[in-house]
Amino acid sequence: MEIEVVEGDITAQDLDAVVNAANRAMRGGGGVDGAIHAAGGPAVLADCLRRFPDGLATGDAGWTTAGLMPARWVIHVVGPNRKAGETDRSLLTSCYRRALAVADELGARSVAFPLVSAGVYGWPKDDAVDAALETLRGTPTDVELARMVAFGRSAYDLIAGRL
Ligand code: ADP
Repeated sequence: MEIEVVEGDITAQDLDAVVNAANRAMRGGGGVDGAIHAAGGPAVLADCLRRFPDGLATGDAGWTTAGLMPARWVIHVVGPNRKAGETDRSLLTSCYRRALAVADELGARSVAFPLVSAGVYGWPKDDAVDAALETLRGTPTDVELARMVAFGRSAYDLIAGRL
């Protein structure tokens, strides 16, 4: 699998699937989650309600339509909320492993990822990058392209420096 980094907005990525940094309720939120629901339109929330009546556990992943976005699917993952005491790093690496497993179920060959947990959830950005890259590299998958989408120049430089 090829791993690349671009600077940009996850919602604009024209790949098979984009990953959402969601929360356990799966009913929308801020950051990446807010941007994805805004860009995808109401079909994303409608699919969340239908497919995830009880939300999703921390570390897990599940898919919905991408609605109006160029991607075909959203793969929602729930990263650990470090600010709320979820400090177990395996919950973060699980998000990337589970996202690739869901991509394989869907037959998605190209997937865009944000830096899960590195925003409101407070995971240190350098370790969030390391967790993402080591898990993407170490997980067997049929996905051919994993694109890390850096939100801003400093995130781009951080990811590019570790790639
Ligand atoms: P979490 O709650 O898992 O921490 P956030 O959405 O708050 O998720 O942030 C995760 C990361 O995504 C942060 O590094 C943030 O800068 C970045 N980010 C925020 N909006 C976007 C976007 N539209 N596209 C890509 N990355 C984004």
